Amino acid sequence: RASISGRTAITVILAHPVAHVRTPQAMNAHFDALGFDAVMVPLHVLPEDLAQVVAALRRMRNLSGIVVTVPHKEAIAALCDELTEEARQVGAVNVIRRDADGRLTGGQFDGEGFVAGLRSAGHEVAGRAIFMAGAGGAAAGLAFAFARHGARRLTIHNRTAAKAEALAARVRAAYPACDTRTGGPDPSGHDVVVNATSLGMKDGDALPLDVTRLAPPMLAAEVIMAPEVTPFLAEAAQRGCATHGGKPMLAAQIALLARFMGAG
Ligand code: NDP
Repeated sequence: RASISGRTAITVILAHPVAHVRTPQAMNAHFDALGFDAVMVPLHVLPEDLAQVVAALRRMRNLSGIVVTVPHKEAIAALCDELTEEARQVGAVNVIRRDADGRLTGGQFDGEGFVAGLRSAGHEVAGRAIFMAGAGGAAAGLAFAFARHGARRLTIHNRTAAKAEALAARVRAAYPACDTRTGGPDPSGHDVVVNATSLGMKDGDALPLDVTRLAPPMLAAEVIMAPEVTPFLAEAAQRGCATHGGKPMLAAQIALLARFMGAG
């Protein structure tokens, strides 16, 4: 990038592995579109080196922020000086703002990005009954965001039922107005059905829920970005449901992450 100078604000993304991440391309395009003098660089960091890397980044005075992805989202929360309410709720950080004095504030936008992505496609969360498969990191972000944005009911289904129970209890405690419960694989009676598991990334993966119960006017939504059409989305479309892929979640997050880092 010929435009990088001594004044350019630096942002990084920490991941292991890092070659597959798509955030740098999207973030640098965002900086270009805004005419903002900033750049995002991928950093390949092993879990055992995370604390040392963060300590060094803290001292880099032209660093605006850090985007964080697999497998560092939980571990890095303990290395921040402060967490936003969303990051505290979820127990994971996917972006850090570095203030001029080196203070690090951890934020969490997976859920906000997902809800903003749904909105960009004309789908609202408020007042809806939502069925979500998954209780891992991404699912936790989504669950709190659904409740925060006024979902009427949230049913969480997960292979490891104890993780679904624990997540449902945390969401209920934070947002009592949302009827949050756990359930089996049948999504009947819900308006929006979400796959927030990693099932569908690899050939031969099982389906995340009972797709035979999908029917219009349900919306089927996905967190997985590649493949663009997962078996879950294909099954939903075949049954006449509207579908929403994983890409808008990242696209919607880019502006949120840039703003949080003070870069754009
Ligand atoms: P985690 O490892 O934290 O959670 C994985 C989830 O998938 C758990 O609910 C797990 O169930 C379930 N799962 C995994 N394998 C199986 C299986 N064989 N059978 C049944 N359930 C299974 O991963 P993340 O939450 O971090 O990521 C989940 C997905 O979200 C990934 O595909 C990731 O790429 C995507 N993602 C997309 C983003 C975007 O911007 N579009 C942003 C962040 C994540 P169990 O608890 O029983 O193990």
